[in-house]
Amino acid sequence: MAIIAFEPNTFYDLTVTCHVTGCRNNGRIWGCGQVYSNLDGTPDVTDGRCGQPIEILTALKTDPQPSVS
Ligand SMILES: [Zn+2]
Repeated sequence: MAIIAFEPNTFYDLTVTCHVTGCRNNGRIWGCGQVYSNLDGTPDVTDGRCGQPIEILTALKTDPQPSVS
């Protein structure tokens, strides 16, 4: 898995993939927009289909950052 340094408290647009055998998203690559990196800079991303952590392939800071209200 690529090591990506996330800044804390930041939104990222991610490209992700799932490696869970039997999951319908296995091997699929999809975009995941405006994922919050949390206070410690470790975004919590799981596959909505299998509920397992997904691999983050690329990460770009969301531009502009969404306003948090
Ligand atoms: Zn999956």
